[in-house]
Amino acid sequence: MNIVFHGVRGSTPCHCPEVQRYGGNTSCVSLLARGQAPLVFDLGTGLRYFGGVLSNDVAEINVLVSHLHWDHIQGLPFLPQLQRSDCSVNIWAPAQQDGRTAHETLDAAITQPMFPVSLAAIGANISVHDVEPSMWRIGAFEVRAVDVPHIGPTLGYRVSLDGRSVVYISDHQEPSDSSQFDPKVLELCDKADVLIHDAQFTDVDYVGREHWGHCRIDYAFSLAVSAGVATLVLFHHDPSRSDDELDAIEAEYKVRGLEFGVEVVVAREGMEMKIPCHADAHA
Ligand SMILES: [Zn+2]
Ligand SMILES: [Zn+2]
Repeated sequence: MNIVFHGVRGSTPCHCPEVQRYGGNTSCVSLLARGQAPLVFDLGTGLRYFGGVLSNDVAEINVLVSHLHWDHIQGLPFLPQLQRSDCSVNIWAPAQQDGRTAHETLDAAITQPMFPVSLAAIGANISVHDVEPSMWRIGAFEVRAVDVPHIGPTLGYRVSLDGRSVVYISDHQEPSDSSQFDPKVLELCDKADVLIHDAQFTDVDYVGREHWGHCRIDYAFSLAVSAGVATLVLFHHDPSRSDDELDAIEAEYKVRGLEFGVEVVVAREGMEMKIPCHADAHA
């Protein structure tokens, strides 16, 4: 499996000299394995860059959406493959609490007057599936979804292939007792090869923002240690977080990770990670 990071910011895209190295696009990560259609986590503005380098013979793209906040769906109408009538885009997203399906909610966001074209008129065959916490297969990928504390219906995903696992938890509300972990979230992360996790706030930034739906980097690290994951990828950076700050965070947590046997990496646009697995080795 090859993991590629196309957008690593939370909340809103950003663009200034201070964020150039890590990048300013919002959440989008792709998972590629030989013989499998690309599997994408979230539809943030990084999606446009994912689609831009995809081979022309790709006729199917599968997407796991964590939740429907702007920073996780804004890239959808800019996916180049939506212009192709021979391409299918299959989206799984959490069921909504207001009675609307995820498809109806996306339709309502991508339409006039907020957007010049309605989603249905864009082109490709888009299907949107409502997801409750469950397990299912997408090709050879085994997918598991659980509820994650955030603001509104939000899912975390574990994708496994040939015994190797990637967990994606983009937005995660830290509990008032930061020594506690949601049991389902902890189990989802159990001994994962890679955990891609919300790293929105430093301890200082967190003060006064305790109910914004996110966590401190330290909480993400504690979760990774408690779940015994091999590699923690700090993700969904605050748009105000500069490259220099992220360098310092990575340096600090790499040292702390050595003590607990967890490799810590700060996500940046264009970063690729390879997880050796059977399907790759024999392709
Ligand atoms: Zn977000
Ligand atoms: Zn959110």
